[in-house]
Amino acid sequence: MRFVRFQSGKEEPKFGWINGDRVGPLTASPISEYRRLDAILPLDQVKLLAPILPSKIICVGRNYADHAREQGAEIPEYPTLFLKPPSAVIGPDENIVLPPQSQQVEHEAELAIIIGKRGRWISEDQAKRYIFGYTIANDVTARDLQSRDGQWARAKGFDTFCPLGPWIETEIDVSDVLISCRVNGDLRQMTSSREMIFPIPHLITYISSVMTLEPGDVILTGTPAGVGILKSGDKVEISIDGLGTLTNSVRIDQRV
Ligand code: ZN
Repeated sequence: MRFVRFQSGKEEPKFGWINGDRVGPLTASPISEYRRLDAILPLDQVKLLAPILPSKIICVGRNYADHAREQGAEIPEYPTLFLKPPSAVIGPDENIVLPPQSQQVEHEAELAIIIGKRGRWISEDQAKRYIFGYTIANDVTARDLQSRDGQWARAKGFDTFCPLGPWIETEIDVSDVLISCRVNGDLRQMTSSREMIFPIPHLITYISSVMTLEPGDVILTGTPAGVGILKSGDKVEISIDGLGTLTNSVRIDQRV
């Protein structure tokens, strides 16, 4: 099933489900007890929002060998973890805002896991049971601040630096899906998820040995090679087989 959050006209945002080219409301979050109401609204007449509002966003750095190499980093022996704040989340078609502190904001196309169940010390063979579904993420990064700071909280944490969407797909095998990123139509990134150094069950085991995973938490699984700079006016399109396309435009911060 495909789940979304959406807004119709001036109504409050709602969780919804997609049936063909129509969307219908849910009575509650899809990661809870809910009922599906009739899907009668045309999908192209509603505004899609970020499909989930996570309590935390856990990210994996350098999970593709080709990206580690292009950053001049060694192939890691264990996953590098960092966090993005929930305030960084934006939805499809919202603007990525370039902050005045950075001269080098870059896109990172990533497959995102949505956690469906609370868990700690999850074993690899149980990991799939804790996954609700998948969506697309852009781990937007101020690359110059990342190398200057050492710690990544600032470089990864600006408002609008975590586009998510367009929907959550619950029935998909993501072990070998193509992840691609286009900027103004030019192909920048294209790699299969099978090239991950640490596969998804391993990541869930590793992360849950540190922190409790909560329903709705999001895990960004790392980006392949081809990351590159974003400029005001750019259009970024990230596509993953079966998960659609996440499109965002880029603009400078209007207050400066
Ligand atoms: Zn990343």
